[in-house]
Amino acid sequence: MSLPLLPDRACGACVECCRAIPLNLPELAKPTGELCAYCVEATGCSVHAVRPQTCRIWFCLWRVVELSDDWRPDRSGVIVRPDGIEDGVITLYVLRRSDFLASIDLFATVAGWIAEGVEVALSVPGPVGTYPARAVVTDWLRPAVEEGDPADFLDRLMRSLDRLDRHDFQPDGVVARYAVV
Ligand code: SF4
Ligand code: SF4
Repeated sequence: MSLPLLPDRACGACVECCRAIPLNLPELAKPTGELCAYCVEATGCSVHAVRPQTCRIWFCLWRVVELSDDWRPDRSGVIVRPDGIEDGVITLYVLRRSDFLASIDLFATVAGWIAEGVEVALSVPGPVGTYPARAVVTDWLRPAVEEGDPADFLDRLMRSLDRLDRHDFQPDGVVARYAVV
């Protein structure tokens, strides 16, 4: 999927999608959660000019919609996934339990989405090489949003993540293959 990017926004030191997202292409296969061997930490792609087409068109929603700088995935620990957006679903892929999860920024943004009728899903990674767990949590979060209660929202968020962490993560079956160069 290719969405129009914000003109004044760049990935900077973030490389989270080069770790989190699986690829299974003839020239590049990497399991879920494995940092691509072509990626240099805090710098980015070392094969930028010849990177696969999938890498050219995949961007998290922080590159697409007006979210604050705190939302950048390496800072927030959250990748806002682009898949599902056409169907009115926004998925927060929570890579780690950062302080950002307790921020008013996150609460107010998610509350705004729910108020607009957007469905919100949470997702967490499992061990490297397994599919993530995911669940739509709109109705579970809604009471905290409607009450304007950030503490209850955080409690509900954490309980959802705890539940997802207990998921029976299944292997993604991807065998690493690095043949771009
Ligand atoms: S996760 Fe988003 S901000 Fe980070 S490198 Fe990927 S597209 Fe850029
Ligand atoms: S080829 Fe480059 S852009 Fe694609 S996953 Fe690897 S480091 Fe990231």
